[in-house]
Amino acid sequence: MKFEELIKEKPHLQSPLELYQKIKTLNEQCKKDREMVKLDSETELIDIVLKNFSSVFQIPYESISFLKEEILKSGKNPVKEPASLWSMQIQSEEISREEIERMLFILSKPFFVFLRKEGEQASFMDTGKCPICGTDSSLAMITENNEKIMICPLCEHGGSFFRIGCPYCFNKDSSRIEILLDDEEIRAELCLECNTYIKSFRENHYIKYRDPFLIDIVSLPLDIVVQKRGYIRRSPNYIGLRIIE
Ligand SMILES: [Zn+2]
Ligand SMILES: [Zn+2]
Repeated sequence: MKFEELIKEKPHLQSPLELYQKIKTLNEQCKKDREMVKLDSETELIDIVLKNFSSVFQIPYESISFLKEEILKSGKNPVKEPASLWSMQIQSEEISREEIERMLFILSKPFFVFLRKEGEQASFMDTGKCPICGTDSSLAMITENNEKIMICPLCEHGGSFFRIGCPYCFNKDSSRIEILLDDEEIRAELCLECNTYIKSFRENHYIKYRDPFLIDIVSLPLDIVVQKRGYIRRSPNYIGLRIIE
């Protein structure tokens, strides 16, 4: 399905869908540029991310180039620890704290993706968290063979997990997991033990949308319903939202 058609079909999701598309473009361009550099030096990767951020979000490079100095000066290493960017202190009179947080989340995304190596297969079985970057996941695909693949929203690694089970508290009692379906049959799996939920979808959804993170966005109304009932989402979605109102 074309992206424009999707927005027409779901006009209430226009702004999250547009943001999703920008972040996706940013990640793709960063991945491409990274392949062109010979050495994965920290400063080079920071340059790649900032330059692409500037072009995708149409913000003049001069107005964000100070971030490079700030990052290097702060002693944080986004290449090794992308999440360290989230706590950067940036003073600005023009942009709100909320916008700064959103920007830092978006800037951290390509660094998370850089952590992952092609063909990586590690599972989520041991801890329920992403074996690559340590993040909780709230999204899973159920394959045709009825296996569950958890998908990390940050580094985008997918790995297997128990078909029935909560990745947060490891409750595997199916009578303590409630399933809710939205109108496209994307599911929320509610853990009655720890009040956490994940969303899961089948391979046929994947064929329609081609991207698990897009499925996470189109099913935002399901997050609203589930969160109103008091269930907690442990990880952000692709555009940095965890609490959806
Ligand atoms: Zn990860
Ligand atoms: Zn649980």
